[in-house]
Amino acid sequence: PQSAPPLQQQQSPIAALTSSILGQNSPPTPISSTTNTRSSSVLDTLFSNPVFAGGFGLASLGAAVSLGRRGFVATTSLLRRQLLVNVEISKADPSYPWVLAWLSKPRDPGGFVASRLTRMRNLAIHTSTSSIAGPMRHDASRVTHADFRVQPGYGRYLVRHKPGVYIAVNREKASTAVTTTGEPHETLTLTLLYKHREMLADVFTEAHALAQSFNQGRTVVYTARNMSWQVLGKPKIKRPLGSVILDEGVKESIVADVKEFISAQQWYTERGVPYRRGYLLYGPPGTGKTSFIQALAGELDYSVAMVNLSERGVTDDLLAQLLTNLPERSILLLEDVDAAMINRRQRDPDGYSGATVTASGLLNALDGLAAGEDRIAFLTTNHIDQLDPALIRPGRVDMMLRIGEATRYQAAQMWDRYYGDIDTDRSGRERFLRRLDELGLFGGNSQDPSVPKRHTSTAAIQGLFQFNKGDMEGAINMAEGLIPRTFEP
Ligand code: ADP
Repeated sequence: PQSAPPLQQQQSPIAALTSSILGQNSPPTPISSTTNTRSSSVLDTLFSNPVFAGGFGLASLGAAVSLGRRGFVATTSLLRRQLLVNVEISKADPSYPWVLAWLSKPRDPGGFVASRLTRMRNLAIHTSTSSIAGPMRHDASRVTHADFRVQPGYGRYLVRHKPGVYIAVNREKASTAVTTTGEPHETLTLTLLYKHREMLADVFTEAHALAQSFNQGRTVVYTARNMSWQVLGKPKIKRPLGSVILDEGVKESIVADVKEFISAQQWYTERGVPYRRGYLLYGPPGTGKTSFIQALAGELDYSVAMVNLSERGVTDDLLAQLLTNLPERSILLLEDVDAAMINRRQRDPDGYSGATVTASGLLNALDGLAAGEDRIAFLTTNHIDQLDPALIRPGRVDMMLRIGEATRYQAAQMWDRYYGDIDTDRSGRERFLRRLDELGLFGGNSQDPSVPKRHTSTAAIQGLFQFNKGDMEGAINMAEGLIPRTFEP
C-alpha cells in the first residue's frame, strides 16, 4: 500500500503561488505552522520585494496627500464658515448704490480712493448728468451738469475699514442673470472676520448716512426707464415752496390737506381704508403745476416719482408695475393724464394713437387690486374736459384744483420776489400791474372795454423777470411781450 507523502514535503497553495509569482524557490512551509505565521511570512515576502514596497509606499503617500487635501479643504471651509461672515448685496437692493458709494469714499481727509481700497486696481466711473434748472418739462434753461463719481470696478478688493478691520469685497457681474431692466445682474459680497461682524451694522449705517448726505436739501426725482423707477440725474436742490406762486390760498389749502393726510395714517389703518390720496391739478400749461409738486415734495422731504402718460412706451402694464413699486416716501406725479383718454377716443385705424395707456389701465393702476397700498398721487392735465368722470372718485382723485392763468395777486407776488428789495415803496409794482391791466392781461381792461380780454401765464411773467433781472423798468417796458401770441394758420 502506498503511504501518504511526508507532511513536510507538502506545499501550501499560497506559498506555491507566491513562489511562482516571485520566481523564488522558497522552502516549503510546514503544514503544522499556524495561519498567522503563514500570512505574515507572505507579507514579509511582499514587503521585502523593493518593487512592491515602493509602489505600495507611493500609493499610500498619494492616498494620504489626497486625504490630507480633502481634510484641509474641509477644515478651511469649516474655518471660513466659522470665522468669516459673508454678506451678499444684490444690485436690486436699495443699499447697493449706497455701499458702492461708501466703498469709494476717501477715508482720510485729502486721501484718495486707492488709499482706502487696498490693492484696488479696477475703478469704474459713474457719471450722472442733470439740468441745473431742474428736471421738469418746461424748464427753460437746461444747462447740463455732469457729476463723476469713482466706484470700485468688478473684482476682489481688500478694504481697510478701521485699523485692524479689513473687509474683503467682491463685485461680480452675473454672466447670465439679467435684471428686469435688461442689464446684467450684479452682486457685491462683503466678507469679514466673524469677530468683526458687528462692523457690518456700521458699514450699512455709514453707507445710508452718506447716501442721505448726498440728498440733504435735495429732491430726488424718479422716472420710468427700462420698466422700472430710475433716479433722474442728480438729486435737485429743493425748490422752496415760496418760489411757486399760486393764486391766493390755493397753495396753502393743498399743503394743509397733504400734511393732514400724512399725519392721519393710523386713522386709515384702523378703518381698513387704503391709505391713498389723489389730487388733480388742471389748467393751461406753464402755470406752475409741476413746479408746485416738486416744491411740495421738497417741503415734505419726499421724492417725486414722475410718469408722463403722453410718452410713447408707457403702457397699462408698465403703469401698473410702476404704481405697485413706488419708491419709498415719494409723491407719485402722473403728468398729462388726458393722454389716456385721448387714446381711448381717438385710436388710429392702425391702433396707435401716440400713447398706449388706456383709461381703464389708468383707473386700474390707481385703485385696482394691484394698486400699491400707500400713496400720494398728483395728476396733472391741461384738458380737464377730456377726462373720464370715473377718475374723479375718492381714492383716485380726492381734491381737484384749477391752476390757472396769472392773476393780479400772483403777478404782484412774483414782482415782490424779483424786485422787492429794490422797489421798496412798491411804486414800480403798481405801475407794472397797471400796465398789465391796460393790456387786458387780467381778463380785460378794467377802464376800457374795447381792449380784448386776455390772459398770461405765470411762466411768461417769470420769463420776463428773468430777462430783466434787477431791472424793473425793463420789465415794465417789455410787459407787452406777455400778450399771448396767436399763430396765423
Ligand atoms: P406746468 O406744470 O403748469 O405746465 P411748470 O411748473 O412746468 O408748469 O412751469 C414752467 C416754468 O414756469 C417753470 O420754470 C416754473 O418755474 C415757472 N412757473 C410757472 N408757473 C409758476 C408759478 N406759479 N410760480 C413760480 N414759477 C412758475
